Amino acid sequence: MKMTADYHTHTFYSDGHSSMRDNVLEAVKKGLTSLGITDHGFNHRTGGIKREDVKKLRDEINSLQKEFPQIKLLLGVEANLLNYNGDVDLTPDDIKNFDYIILGIHYLTYGKGVKDSFLFNFRNFFWNTKQHRKKITKSYIKAMDRYPIKVIVHPNYATGCDVEMLANACKERGVLLEFNGKRVEFNKREIDAIIKSGVGIILGSDAHYANKVGDCSLQQEFLKDYPDFPLERFVNINLEN
Ligand SMILES: [Zn+2]
Ligand SMILES: [Zn+2]
Repeated sequence: MKMTADYHTHTFYSDGHSSMRDNVLEAVKKGLTSLGITDHGFNHRTGGIKREDVKKLRDEINSLQKEFPQIKLLLGVEANLLNYNGDVDLTPDDIKNFDYIILGIHYLTYGKGVKDSFLFNFRNFFWNTKQHRKKITKSYIKAMDRYPIKVIVHPNYATGCDVEMLANACKERGVLLEFNGKRVEFNKREIDAIIKSGVGIILGSDAHYANKVGDCSLQQEFLKDYPDFPLERFVNINLEN
């Protein structure tokens, strides 16, 4: 099993440890057809990109695209879900600056106000109740209805959610669900719900080092427990390798 394209990678512009160029070189080396750079959104406390850097990111990716015509390069962003209302750390102007948006929940992001920052993150850490997970899932759905989101990344990281409800909502909206290269956190019941929903699934390396670009070894390891998993549901996989 081999990734054909990687739409979830980080660089120095957020908390990655490699340059955009290093990621591109690795993607070319591994024969990927497409590479997305998705640094963390603005409200990520430890690694969010800065609004004043977005133009630099765009200029850099444009020049790399000229240099490496054999691979399609895209500039995305890994936006943060901020609260129960489906607010995301992107303004309408920000959205225009990116080719696509992936959305995740991260520890200790800045919310819209003190209440969001405190309550949302505090609950994620200490108060992962069923009611909270339902509210989180509804918030993902509100966000999908308000923003042009392509992928929900690493569901169940930082806080649990209702995976069945989320998978069904993604399927209805044509949003992909990610199996993440750093953490795959689904139980058997959730895997069954994902399969049953018919949702499209995508592999993302979530590479923070260039050598991890295009790497799906963790997902492969995880799937060993599910030998009947329908691999054809992955949109970016080559089954022949
Ligand atoms: Zn993330
Ligand atoms: Zn990421």
